[in-house]
Amino acid sequence: MPFPKTELELEAAGYTFENTGHCRDCGCELAWYLTPAGKHMPLEEGTLEPHWAKCPNADRFRRKR
Ligand SMILES: [Zn+2]
Repeated sequence: MPFPKTELELEAAGYTFENTGHCRDCGCELAWYLTPAGKHMPLEEGTLEPHWAKCPNADRFRRKR
């Protein structure tokens, strides 16, 4: 299933809007959503794309375990 592109699609898919904020690494405006799995996910304002795919400092989102 492609990732939802609008707020309505997100909510229909079980995502819940939580808050807005800014990326601590690049300063981009973000919209935080709670996923159906109960995880917090930062989406970019406007495009609603997952920020970890676009952030210039995305390595921070993929810490080694
Ligand atoms: Zn960022």
